[in-house]
Amino acid sequence: MKKIVVLGSGESGVGTAMLAKKKEYSVFVSDKGTIADKYKKVLLHNDIVFEEGKHTEGKIFDADVVMKSPGIPDKVALIQELLKRNIPIVSEIEFASKYTDAMLVGITGSNGKTTTTMLTNHILTAEGLNVGMAGNIGDSFALQVANETYDKYVLELSSFQLDGIVDFAPHIAVITNISPDHLDRYDYKYENYINSKFRITKNQTAEDFLIYDADDEAIENWLKNNKVKAQLLPFSLEKSFDKGAYIEDDNIIINTNSNLFTMSIAALALQGKHNTKNAMASAMIAKLLGVRNNTLRESLEDFDSVEHRLEPVLKINGVQYINDSKATNVNAAYYALESVRTPIVWIVGGTDKGNDYTSLLPLVREKVKAIICLGLDNSKIIETFGNVVDFMIETAGAEEAVKVAYKVSEKGDTVLLAPACASFDLFENYEDRGRQFKDAVRQL
Ligand code: ADP
Repeated sequence: MKKIVVLGSGESGVGTAMLAKKKEYSVFVSDKGTIADKYKKVLLHNDIVFEEGKHTEGKIFDADVVMKSPGIPDKVALIQELLKRNIPIVSEIEFASKYTDAMLVGITGSNGKTTTTMLTNHILTAEGLNVGMAGNIGDSFALQVANETYDKYVLELSSFQLDGIVDFAPHIAVITNISPDHLDRYDYKYENYINSKFRITKNQTAEDFLIYDADDEAIENWLKNNKVKAQLLPFSLEKSFDKGAYIEDDNIIINTNSNLFTMSIAALALQGKHNTKNAMASAMIAKLLGVRNNTLRESLEDFDSVEHRLEPVLKINGVQYINDSKATNVNAAYYALESVRTPIVWIVGGTDKGNDYTSLLPLVREKVKAIICLGLDNSKIIETFGNVVDFMIETAGAEEAVKVAYKVSEKGDTVLLAPACASFDLFENYEDRGRQFKDAVRQL
């Protein structure tokens, strides 16, 4: 019997444990923290041996293979020791993909993964395809593979998941865009992070496809200097292609094959330039998988926005409140500011990830009338924008921030929560921040 050790018992760890058990591995789950009750129940119910609050090295070093949760960095001593001992370490995606023949779509990038994954799933499901969705949403890929429900999967893939692949090969890969993020996990080298994203292409063949943002400098540069075997399908707001997706007269044009698809940008459910790009990527996937133009059009029209991603909350006294709590980096905040067409009261701040805000200056000058800081340490924001906007204030909670926003906004304005920062200084996570914001708005 082969022995697998699963390090970390969140959604992907527990899913892997379930799949491994089904495939007759001897399974041991080890979590240094506490295991959530719902996962503990699953492990107990399935007779899977586990420990929490520690890592028992004797048992871990006895493994034939280790699945490491994406949250555990390589530099921790335990992982270094496993590497030294040449014990293979894989990600959930790698492990699960070995046990399915399903057609795989893998979506990575710095921003837009969840939106593109959900939109793609929405379109493919509307066409009646038997498709599963995994990533940060719903059940893990491994668990779905264990249940053998689907013959196609749309997978949202973080760079950490991609770091742990060996043979994983999606038939269709998407890189939505690349901007600096998580550099603490990549020796503070941007190129390492970019390489990690491109690992999604490493096992692809000439039968496969890579869909990518051709307006993205990091992506274009990488492609100039490296070879991928997959067929390239670019999308762009500025250039056009023989094969790819582009804009013509305010329409998106998708010409992955002879059966052209065109649709007015104004008719897309998700507005904003970034979302036009997400729609282009999803539409190309759909066309490659034979979705009919009518289904595609209707699905792009009726997709509901995703919670915490430019999510309209309420309109009060002619002021629109928007929750973009998931804008946890500067690039996402850029697109949020870009997508709003009215004067903006901007709620920004949180845990800084080494942010450089200068790229936002032109947009802030043009659109932002007031800045409400919502973080413990707002010094960088104050330094960058203090002289640029007429009104700036520091607040220490969502409710206070929303109350101030209510006071300083006028009919026709938009109050936008797009923090450009992580949430951990004042909130549990970005969902908590978004919910507190929405609750406060509803109480106005
Ligand atoms: P991810 O899963 O990659 O974090 P999301 O779809 O959750 O991406 O979106 C994260 C944030 O980035 C949100 O604030 C969203 O409005 C913004 N965003 C979505 N798509 C894009 C894109 N293509 N480019 C830049 N920002 C985007």
